[in-house]
Amino acid sequence: MLRLNEIQLPLDHPEDALHAAILARLGIAAEALLGYTIFRRSYDARKKSAVILTYTVDVEVNEEAALLKRLHGDRHLMPTPDTNYHFVAQAPGQLKSRPVVIGTGPCGLFAGLILAQMGFNPIILERGKAVRERTKDTWGLWRKRELQPESNVQFGEGGAGTFSDGKLWTQIKDPKHYGRKVLTEFVKADAPEEIMYVSKPHIGTFRLVKMVEQMRASIEALGGEFRFQQKVEDLDIQWEQGPGQGRGQVRAVTLASGETIVTDHVVLAIGHSARDTFQMLYDRGVYIEAKPFSLGFRIEHPQSLIDRCRFGPSAGHPILGAADYKLVHHCANGRAVYSFCMCPGGTVVAATSEPGRVVTNGMSQYSRNERNANSGIVVGITPADYPGHPLAGIAFQRQWESRAFELGGGNYDAPGQLVGDFIAGRASTELGTVIPSYKPGVRLGDLSTALPDYAIAAIREALPEFDKQIRGFAMADAVLTGVETRTSSPIRIKRHDDSLQSLNTVGLFPAGEGAGYAGGIMSAAIDGIRVAEAVALSICNKG
Ligand code: FAD
Repeated sequence: MLRLNEIQLPLDHPEDALHAAILARLGIAAEALLGYTIFRRSYDARKKSAVILTYTVDVEVNEEAALLKRLHGDRHLMPTPDTNYHFVAQAPGQLKSRPVVIGTGPCGLFAGLILAQMGFNPIILERGKAVRERTKDTWGLWRKRELQPESNVQFGEGGAGTFSDGKLWTQIKDPKHYGRKVLTEFVKADAPEEIMYVSKPHIGTFRLVKMVEQMRASIEALGGEFRFQQKVEDLDIQWEQGPGQGRGQVRAVTLASGETIVTDHVVLAIGHSARDTFQMLYDRGVYIEAKPFSLGFRIEHPQSLIDRCRFGPSAGHPILGAADYKLVHHCANGRAVYSFCMCPGGTVVAATSEPGRVVTNGMSQYSRNERNANSGIVVGITPADYPGHPLAGIAFQRQWESRAFELGGGNYDAPGQLVGDFIAGRASTELGTVIPSYKPGVRLGDLSTALPDYAIAAIREALPEFDKQIRGFAMADAVLTGVETRTSSPIRIKRHDDSLQSLNTVGLFPAGEGAGYAGGIMSAAIDGIRVAEAVALSICNKG
């Protein structure tokens, strides 16, 4: 099999044009091309009147070696690299104890799946409910203002990414092609096949719910065990020199029910919102440090504005779908403002997991056909903004989430303001042409006290700058809602680079977004695979 890169065709090319282009590029007759598959399809919309599709294809040809020799020097042709997943270990016949995975977000699901595929029969613990029941609870906040602190957008089967846009791309380095393994497993679990080759794959909420169930079934069929509504409340760590002193070794986890599960290997895939669990880990002596994250608002525009600006006359083309954007501005006060988790044709969602707090985020369906585009417009902050304690970032998040609850009227409405009013520094009293999608509702007013002064100043400066890249971005009627605080974890549970075990606690594998080692569905899933391998090797090396 050979990989051929950089085949460029116009957006509206006829179906057989790709076949013809492959023959032309390879200089072969149709009979010599035995077959081909598309490995990647991306678009270049810099010239809006002539959007270009770029393909990478894997081709099967007669006389492969002769062809490679003839086209020697063509840097766009090479033998297809092996991107298949290879297991690093197989479970021994007798396991001393079963590995425990805490959390069923993308990180925990993939850690559980890989461990199960290698025969390690993991026990997978989740504080929230199975995904169908969880969906009802999540909608309960959006429709009836009823928050279930253990079953919501953050907690429950599938983790934080279940009610999301399901964007699946990541910018992390992936030399072992773990991303392919993730996509392959998602397709097996009924994701659309195109995620294997489009440059910016996404899934959308409804499909994610079904996929999470399918993955659970696969893991169970392989000997894995799921337990829902089983919050891990404590860790039994045996310390060399007294509690929190020297090196510890995990011995067991204790559940809220009081049950104890004895184990030497715990994957900690708890996400960025498990604040009580972070506190427990800190109290038990696990090494944790504060890390930077971001906070800001969600912004909503008409999706048609973004489509027109990005795709011009090609807006609405089915291959392009709803347009996205990525924006960054470095402000005079030294802060960086950037767009975060952009959801084309989606909705803004209530994403708190704690009573008396308001948090925004975004989601969409596969079709991405809602009226508005939304994204977080967030400001980078560092531990210097919340100094003094490894968990101080959590207190900082809570402060602004509580303030948002208050500004929203104390009933889970989000505080909001029109962009024109926000920039001009006056309170909003009435919506314009953009109707915000956040449920249960938006209370218009003045957002200038909803975030620290430096963040407000930075966002005020950035919006007109973004308007230079997307004309209309700072339109007066665009709506800001807030606050966006759960952009990533405020802590890092540091681990060794090679063993992936906690710096001071043997057998504890901090993983995914909550531990500060991922940001997004794809990178969390990839980290789950890496950590599963580390657990397997640790078990096998110990015999
Ligand atoms: P999580 O998904 O947060 O999972 C952690 C799990 O651990 C949870 O299910 C939780 O209930 C459980 N848990 C926590 N503590 C305990 C405990 N003590 N005992 C037992 N269980 C526990 N990312 C993207 O890449 N693309 C997107 O389009 C996207 N959209 C998003 C939209 C929304 C509304 C949200 C909230 C997030 C979105 N994200 C998106 C971010 C993405 O969801 C996260 O990066 C990803 O889910 C992190 O995966 P994780 O497995 O590390 O943690």
